[in-house]
Parts: sequence; structure tokens; C-alpha cells
Amino acid sequence: MSEAIALDATHDPARRSWVPGADGHADFPVQNLPFGIFTPPGGDGPRGGVAIGDSILDLRAALAAGLFTGAAGEAAEAAAAETLNGFMGLGAAPRRALRQRLSALLTAGSAEQRRAAACLHPADRCILHLPARIGDYTDFYVGIHHATNVGKVFRPDNPLLPNYKYVPIGYHGRASSVRVSGADVRRPKGQLKAPEAEAPRFAPCERLDYELELGIWVGPGNALGEPIPVGEAAAHVAGYCLLNDWSARDIQAWEYQPLGPFLAKNFGSTISPWVVTPEALAPFRIPQPPRPQGDPAPLPHLLDAADQRHGAFDLALEVLLLTPAMREKGIPPHRLALSNARHMYWTVAQMLAHHTSNGCDLHPGDLLGSGTLSAPEPSGLGSLLELTRGGREPVILPSGESRRFIEDGDEVILRARAAGEGVAGIGFGECRARILPAA
Ligand code: CA
Repeated sequence: MSEAIALDATHDPARRSWVPGADGHADFPVQNLPFGIFTPPGGDGPRGGVAIGDSILDLRAALAAGLFTGAAGEAAEAAAAETLNGFMGLGAAPRRALRQRLSALLTAGSAEQRRAAACLHPADRCILHLPARIGDYTDFYVGIHHATNVGKVFRPDNPLLPNYKYVPIGYHGRASSVRVSGADVRRPKGQLKAPEAEAPRFAPCERLDYELELGIWVGPGNALGEPIPVGEAAAHVAGYCLLNDWSARDIQAWEYQPLGPFLAKNFGSTISPWVVTPEALAPFRIPQPPRPQGDPAPLPHLLDAADQRHGAFDLALEVLLLTPAMREKGIPPHRLALSNARHMYWTVAQMLAHHTSNGCDLHPGDLLGSGTLSAPEPSGLGSLLELTRGGREPVILPSGESRRFIEDGDEVILRARAAGEGVAGIGFGECRARILPAA
């Protein structure tokens, strides 16, 4: 059984940090403490760090300063490396020990404030990298409102295929083209075929879209042939990020049958740089929403009572758009959607259990995408495919411009924020990327 992570002093909303700007920070107050890989200003190479307010705590420097010992020290050694794969593979206990120590170090009144302060860098002067060497990337499709909306285009009366309520649907994505927030994405070229055209042509994508997704970092993996039971799956998650699964709808429409998405998806995916831990998200766990009446129960190998009690998240997810004209006029990014991670038909534990149920092995630093997470209401649609009804109803922007799909120079920004009564709100930091013209 996967019991809930107990809340402790690291979650205390009254806890204050001596780091300027950390208290009340929208993303990184002392209650969050996400891990990432960064190069410090003038630094000699990537290393692990922890986001606190608008600063990054350099774990390599903090280790050299003797700020960690014992289990926290061993975890810090792993987290200070050039990638977080080793740290992710350690699992929950060392990660929690390090969280406890980091929280104590960064809390107001810490005896080591002066030494720790010497290990801080201004985040805006650091370069952030992918947090792990991603061995494999799998994209699921568990956002039931998105699956329903897309299915309606093809099957208005019966949008969900019969397997949807038994199988956490997914496909193997491409790890090589995953980039960290801030890296530009080039508009892909591909085979486009209008329904009435006799043959396809090879041209730049004309229906470029984003997908609002939750990313899941795999922690300790499993050996080939040894499935992860659903009740133990939570222990195999190292953390979470935002994921924009850029999608070329016209390339997709022509290529996807019979084997599914290929070049429509693998030209680029953007993720947020910080790994938000299961511990940081513990106050925002909620019961998995009950299935609509008449839906089948999951098969026993995908069902765990404790996971059903606290396996979902109350996590607000947002998509914003900034066009070149808006940037020029100083108009702030325009919100296209506000959704929530609670709209997942399957929990993360069910996704992991399903992925490994045939014996497939997962490894530390593997990345899973949730699939597009749309809300049921029109203000919460996680892709333009849904928002503009396949390009038929353009979105009007505050600049007076309109968009059916993403144009060159447009920047898409994803944000995530968890908040609640009696807890300190936390965020993920941004997942943003700008589209460059096709080569
Ligand atoms: Ca997707």
C-alpha cells in the first residue's frame, strides 16, 4: 500500500526563510525546495542546485563548505552531480533526509546562514539545464476531457474508444528532442495533406499546437521482467515538472494511422527545469475523483485503495501566449487556459504500474508525460486543437491579433501552482519556448 507522505516541519506555512524574496514567493518558498541542474555565473560547469526564492543554492559549493553530513550528505553528493539521474535513483528516504537538512539550512534563524548564503547565486544569472539525462520518454493520454474533446472530432456520439477506461493509453515518445524551458523550438516541416488533396506536399507545419501536460520523473527503476505493483509505484517517482508536448496537427493527421504519432511530436518537447518533489506536493494530494457512474472499475493490477485515497493532485495548470506584437507593445502574456491536474482519469501510480505491467523496465531519469490536461469548461482547454475547434474559431488576443494555431515568434508559457488553506502555496517555475521559423 502506498501510504500518504506525512506532513512535517518542512511544510509548516509559518516557516520563514532568511533568503531575500523567498517568503511568499509564487514558486519557490522554503516549503518547496525543488532540485535542478544549473551553471552558475562564470562557473566551470553544470551542477545540482535547489531553487529558493529568486536564488539557487549551489549544492557543490554547499558540500565543499561542509554543510551536509550523514544521509543528507550522501543525497547531496548525488544531487550535486552534472545530472540528477543518480539522485533520482536513490529514492525517497535519502531525498527526504536532504529536504529536512535543506529546510533547516534555509530557515530563518539557521546557525549556518552565513556559510549557506555564500553558496547562493541569483537565479537570473544562472543557466538552467535539463535536470537529467532522459533515457526514455513516454507520453500518456490520461486527460479525460482532452481525450473526449479530441475523440468528438472523429466520433461525436462515442468519443472515447472502449479501451480508454481499462488502459492508461500511452505511446513511446522521443527523448533526444526534449529541451529545457527557454530553448527555442524550430517549426517542423513535414508531409501535409489537405483532405481534398490527392497527394501530400512537404512544407512547414501550418497547424502548430502546444499541449499542457504534467511531466513525471522516474526515480528508482525496475529490472526487466519485474513489474512495479501499483501499490508500490509512488516510491518510483522522483518528482514532477511541466511539459509542453509540441504537436504538428497537420503532420499528425496524415501520419498517425495505423501506428500513432511520430514526426508530428518528436521535433521538440519543452519541460520546466525544476524537479518538484513528491514531498513538496504532499499537501496537495487529493483522492482520485470517482469514475462517472457506469464506468468499469480498473482491473485489480491497476487498483490500490491507498492510491485511490490520495493519488491525485490539486494543482492549477496554466497556458499563456506572448506574440511578437504583444512583446513589442509591452502587453503581458495572455492566459489561454486554466486547468488542473485533477482531470487525470488515471493516477501517476496507475501509469507506472501499467507501463511496467508487461515487464518493461523504467530507469532513473526517464520522463513520463500525463497527456494534455484540459478542464471540462471552455476556459480550461489545454491545446489550440480544442480551444479553436481545430482552427475554425480563432482566439482573439489583447493586441487585437487572432490565432488559430501558433505562429513564428510566438512564445508559449506553461505555469503550475498548488495552493490551499493553511499551507504555503508553491509553483513549478515556468516552462516557456518560442517558435522559430522553419529552416
Ligand atoms: Ca501529448
